[in-house]
Amino acid sequence: QHDVHIIGGGLAGCEAAWQLANRGIKVKISEMRGGGKMTAAHQSDGLAELVCSNSFRSDDDENNAVGLLHHEMRLLNSIIMTCADEAKVPAGSALAVDREIFSDLVEKAMNNHDNIHVVRECVETLPNNGITIISTGPLTDDGLAHQIIEKTGSENLAFFDAIAPIVHFDSVNMDIAWFQSRWDKGDGKDYINCPMDEEEYLIFHQGLMDGEKTTFKQWEENTPYFEGCMPIEVMASRGLDTLRFGPMKPVGLTNPATGKRAHAVVQLRQDNKQGSLWNMVGFQTKLKHGAQVELFRKIPGLENAEFARLGGLHRNSFIRSPILLDRHLRLKSAPHIRFAGQITGCEGYVESSAIGLICGIFTAADILGADIIPPNNMTSLGALLCHITGDAEADSYQPMNVNFGLFTPLTEKVHKKQRKLAMTSRAKEQFDIWRQNLAI
Ligand code: FAD
Repeated sequence: QHDVHIIGGGLAGCEAAWQLANRGIKVKISEMRGGGKMTAAHQSDGLAELVCSNSFRSDDDENNAVGLLHHEMRLLNSIIMTCADEAKVPAGSALAVDREIFSDLVEKAMNNHDNIHVVRECVETLPNNGITIISTGPLTDDGLAHQIIEKTGSENLAFFDAIAPIVHFDSVNMDIAWFQSRWDKGDGKDYINCPMDEEEYLIFHQGLMDGEKTTFKQWEENTPYFEGCMPIEVMASRGLDTLRFGPMKPVGLTNPATGKRAHAVVQLRQDNKQGSLWNMVGFQTKLKHGAQVELFRKIPGLENAEFARLGGLHRNSFIRSPILLDRHLRLKSAPHIRFAGQITGCEGYVESSAIGLICGIFTAADILGADIIPPNNMTSLGALLCHITGDAEADSYQPMNVNFGLFTPLTEKVHKKQRKLAMTSRAKEQFDIWRQNLAI
């Protein structure tokens, strides 16, 4: 007998189970690995397996949004952070782990908890009733994925294979770039435009051709590109001017500095409500991260660009959370179902675990009859949660790491060098207030 059924024993599912079980709630975790199924990226049957790198990224809670998220999760007794700290290996200011020790520790914690029951089985259908958390990750098994599509509408589960980089607005040089929509549509200034003359374009095109690309994993080889999100370097390889008739077309745009049309234009589209993050339109790419930074900083206006996320390509299933989920991660059309982890459209081990954690707390609150106001977006957990559950633009919604661009901007004037510290100090105060009011 269980009170909550968690589908998927990855990072988010285990963290949600832990938060529920510690509040006296009985949980069943269904994990398909070890039950005759495997994903294309996992290597073992272990719960909470890290599929790629062994890094939880920066552990600096004063200058880094993900380090701050570590801090907030530790305060909430996160099992993922406890096991990561125990399995830690030297990695400078980053938190990296021995992946086998880490997964073993999480698995032991789940198996040894009286309120958690792990069953090795693949869930093929969405439950019609009973409190359920879906935390099946970016490689959700096909049967369940199709059920999710049926429930949410096919356009709302992206089988996503390419992502474009995202730039912090305050790193764009607006003396060179300008606001304008093509043909002045909409309110006339929905995009940021970065102009290129012919010479700059030719050098940039060559850079795309020459830049080092990541190689396909064997399981990715058969994944077709969707025409709509073809990597920019693949498009560039089709002809010198293909990009100038595609994402870099200069028509309908006038550079205010010259009063003329540029030879080519790179457009950035607003990516969050605050306007602090901007997406490079059509710039999904398989260039290696280092090559992306080097090449994209050659774009006029982006010489000092700071990237909230770089481009990449891999299979990734996620729902359009900003329109499908309420602020407590419940599916609006079937509130007995919650989503957690990467399938909600957050990106990364830490973020997936954090969303599992808060999902566990929300679910426990429902069962125990407690009222919970989500943490506000001056905190790291709150900023990530708000992004997923409503602040992000639903139409261009793409997986996102936590970063300061998601936070409420500082109201007081702070010197640039002190801004991150001011953000994290404010976050810590706000998080403590939220935690003190947490009734469960
Ligand atoms: P997962 O950890 O994937 O857990 C989901 C679980 O659900 C899995 O154990 C799966 O077996 C199970 N499952 C799926 N379908 C079913 C079903 N129908 N029934 C029962 N069980 C099911 N993030 C980083 O921070 N660093 C990286 O280096 C990194 N590399 C990545 C590489 C790849 C190839 C991919 C796909 C993602 C990568 N990520 C990385 C992103 C992401 O953070 C991880 O995928 C993370 O594990 C997501 O956590 P999760 O709990 O949401 O999903």
